[in-house]
Amino acid sequence: MTSVPISFEFFPPKTDEQKATLEAALPKLKSLQPDYVSCTFGAGGSTLSYTPETIRHLREEHGLDAAPHLSCMGGTRDEIRSLLVRYKTMGCKRIVALRGDLPSGMASHGDFRYASDLVEFIRKESGGSFHIEVACYPEVHPQADDAHADLAHFKAKVDAGANGAITQYFYNADAYFRFVDSARRAGITLPIVPGIMPIANFSQLRRFSDMCGAEIPRWLTKRLVALGDDAESIRSFAADVVADLCNRLVAGGAPGLHFYTLNRSKPTLAICERLALS
Ligand code: FAD
Repeated sequence: MTSVPISFEFFPPKTDEQKATLEAALPKLKSLQPDYVSCTFGAGGSTLSYTPETIRHLREEHGLDAAPHLSCMGGTRDEIRSLLVRYKTMGCKRIVALRGDLPSGMASHGDFRYASDLVEFIRKESGGSFHIEVACYPEVHPQADDAHADLAHFKAKVDAGANGAITQYFYNADAYFRFVDSARRAGITLPIVPGIMPIANFSQLRRFSDMCGAEIPRWLTKRLVALGDDAESIRSFAADVVADLCNRLVAGGAPGLHFYTLNRSKPTLAICERLALS
């Protein structure tokens, strides 16, 4: 029996179809009693309103402890300040603070350049009102000069006031363990929770992984490709592999598991069933 806290990440649904998908996934995921859930933040303009509305919905209509993501992209100081007030009024106690990525076609980021600037601003504006989570990268952020510089930038976020960290997803447990060791040697003591990406759609995963620098091991790619169009075998094999990863991480001391659900219940449930969580 795995007894670490689990959390689920959602993205804010925009269309009626996306809303229905999330609504269908929520009862099953809620039954796993997550410690909290989080909702990602899009970049700029009209998308700014989707996250607060989804957070309100998850908190008020589903009784979930929902934590908003907040990113530097497209947000002015004033916009971010008013979002912080709104989240505090809703009763949010946790925020995931990120830099975000500039979408193609968008010329400039907001008033903050790096996540460390945003963490510092949240602390200045809101004192200790929020538990702040930040992102970190066991396989190194794709834009970092090297692993050493990336670790120093992670430490800057911690020094600015972060309380916890969630990793980018990975499929190599050793990358996580070595990263945690390096962080501890650098004086970073906060909990580092692995981000877990269930494998539902392999071509989508490949695209994501190319963008965010997460490595899909060659053997895993070969095995998934060999299963061809056999969706049931892919689902079952992928759940076995990711559940095994989770078990190794927890056995090695990971303080929790944060699932990137992509608003679907089945792939995450299949893993959790194998962890005897449900
Ligand atoms: P930062 O910590 O600012 O780092 C970004 C890059 O800049 C790194 O290469 C770092 O080494 C470098 N860097 C940092 N500080 C400095 C400095 N002072 N000088 C030079 N280089 C520096 N994206 C979204 O748009 N919305 C979301 O909701 C969202 N949620 C996420 C949740 C998690 C758990 C994770 C892991 C990622 C999420 N992302 C999200 C993606 C994230 O925004 C991207 O990975 C982004 O490219 C980096 O964000 P960061 O907060 O790690 O940035």
